[in-house]
Amino acid sequence: MKLYAESVLLGNHWNSNKLILINDKGIIESIQDGTKSEADEVAGTVIPGMVNCHSHAFQRAFAGFSEYRGNQADSFWSWRDIMYRFVAQMTPEDAHVVAKFLYLEMLKAGYTCVAEFHYLHHQVGGRLYDDPAEMSLQIVNAAESIGISITHLPVLYTYAGFGYQAPSQAQKRFIHQIDEYCQLLESLSVSLKNKPTVNLGIAPHSLRAVSQEQLTQIVPFIRKLNPKAPIHIHIAEQLQEVEDCVAYYQKRPVEWLLDHCELDANWCLIHATHLSNQETKRLAQSEAVAGICPTTEANLGDGVFPTQSFMEQGGRIALGSDSHIAVNVADEIRTLEYGQRLTTHQRAVLSSAECPSVGQNIFVHSAQSGADSVAQNVGALAVGKRADLIILDDKHPSLFAKHPRFMLDAAIFACHSMPIEGVMVAGKWVIQDGVHPEENQITNDYLQVIKRLSQ
Ligand SMILES: [Zn+2]
Repeated sequence: MKLYAESVLLGNHWNSNKLILINDKGIIESIQDGTKSEADEVAGTVIPGMVNCHSHAFQRAFAGFSEYRGNQADSFWSWRDIMYRFVAQMTPEDAHVVAKFLYLEMLKAGYTCVAEFHYLHHQVGGRLYDDPAEMSLQIVNAAESIGISITHLPVLYTYAGFGYQAPSQAQKRFIHQIDEYCQLLESLSVSLKNKPTVNLGIAPHSLRAVSQEQLTQIVPFIRKLNPKAPIHIHIAEQLQEVEDCVAYYQKRPVEWLLDHCELDANWCLIHATHLSNQETKRLAQSEAVAGICPTTEANLGDGVFPTQSFMEQGGRIALGSDSHIAVNVADEIRTLEYGQRLTTHQRAVLSSAECPSVGQNIFVHSAQSGADSVAQNVGALAVGKRADLIILDDKHPSLFAKHPRFMLDAAIFACHSMPIEGVMVAGKWVIQDGVHPEENQITNDYLQVIKRLSQ
């Protein structure tokens, strides 16, 4: 396919009148000057697709159910109780329907690839399904059928807290012992092989839910299957978790991880909210990506990641929608930037010398680092990269001047969500004229499931 772009973001630079040649494997073969008349398809403004580095799909089903004050002091931990109530009822078919609806929302928001941090593995009570990979396959099938690319990250979750604490009844659906977990990885590595838009990695849930011995087993296990397999871990999200870690390991969580694991570009530390200055510096110097989830972290009252300091020291960030209280790229970037403005009393904080536009700087950086975090060949529009891209609706009134210099700032800061006309994943249109062809059916199915689960 030859796609003509009146304006296209290549790296951090806008280019005009380009012909993007995409081969039948969905890879960009060339980007050259050209005219509309030479093209198969014509677009106004083209930018790369965004990677969503952190998703728990099933949590979409109860977004909005925990925004009132109950009897106990409301906190992250009371939100978790509501999550457990929903989890107790969800079947594999429900998980598929919820994931499909969520991934449709993601595509419409401009996410073209998602890292699914998947921990709802077993039947109620913890019994394995006939195929222990049942839940994983339902999620991956949902992604494939809707057309979003996915990096599937089965979670290893064994303990309720530091020091090998036994899990509660409510956590039984998440729990694996190490042998079962490695069998799951082996089985998935076979089932998901030869799927060009699907990748497999691991997610040790957190330092509180996985032991040091387990971590030293699973990292080499997955890297033997794939040397660049992504490894994601929740870390330093809550102050209580930091205190518990210090009490148990005599080190802060990120400090401990830096001392015990060789972090590389395909490691993604999710949240990493509470960092000392020393941890910020060391994490920035490592190649690892900090997976920040601004709207969820704000919603749960986690705290503010030291983004300005981290990025100024060369640190890399990616964006995740995590609990899906928002499925909105613009909202994540705004919340990230506004958190910095509110704490530093400055404006335009997360710009850089290379890119003074805050919206463009965060978008381009997060798409590229996000691509490393999912280990997929995406994150920028360039020859050899997969054609995962977004067409902005540049007729939207907020994109007033259509001047490329302001295009992403206007799309992110002056629109509720980025105005999106079309989305392509691996050279195939999945959203055209703002809609997905199956959107009504997917939404109706979701409504049926949500009605039952919320009773
Ligand atoms: Zn999470």
